[in-house]
Amino acid sequence: MGPPGAGKGTQAKGIAERYGIPAISTGDIFRTNVKNETPLGLKVKEIMNAGGYVGDDITNGLIANRLAEEDARGGFLLDGYPRTPAQVEALDGMLAELGEKLDAVVSLTADTDEVVTRLLKRAEIEGRADDNEETIRTRLDVYAKETAPLLATYADRGLLVEVDGLGDIDEVGQRIADALEAKKA
Ligand code: ADP
Repeated sequence: MGPPGAGKGTQAKGIAERYGIPAISTGDIFRTNVKNETPLGLKVKEIMNAGGYVGDDITNGLIANRLAEEDARGGFLLDGYPRTPAQVEALDGMLAELGEKLDAVVSLTADTDEVVTRLLKRAEIEGRADDNEETIRTRLDVYAKETAPLLATYADRGLLVEVDGLGDIDEVGQRIADALEAKKA
């Protein structure tokens, strides 16, 4: 978990590789669907471009299907999910059904100035439709309002691992690895 621009996607790939598990990114799945103009993509395009959250039913259904796939049997990393209380509840239900539980919730922190700078830079490189100044502000607001409170939920459950997202990619990756190993011990 972490605000837009904290580096979730980048670090998710690193963690997944380290543990030999799939990184499941709701944002990536939605973007692929938008790009391919699938029925799902057509449904979510507008809200994504505006910086809002896709509806819980759609998002929960997507994750339920994805977690049912064979490659998720040996573990998985969720990137960008859950982001609302209803998604936390839905995930709890899915995990109970699968007989699995979360090992940890990584919170990647970065201050607002830094994430805005990163997102504007990414806009130049990748040209993501939602990386413009107005949408970035919306995404940060939505994160603060809808998702940041969930950190307390996972902290209460003893699952939260907070990691400073400032620094180069490898440095942050090492911090996450160390924090997860320390949690395991
Ligand atoms: P960011 O790091 O900017 O939040 P993501 O790739 O994680 O980027 O998400 C991009 C967009 O995809 C979000 O702004 C939202 O519209 C949609 N999205 C991704 N995950 C979720 C989710 N769990 N619930 C609702 N919408 C989501």
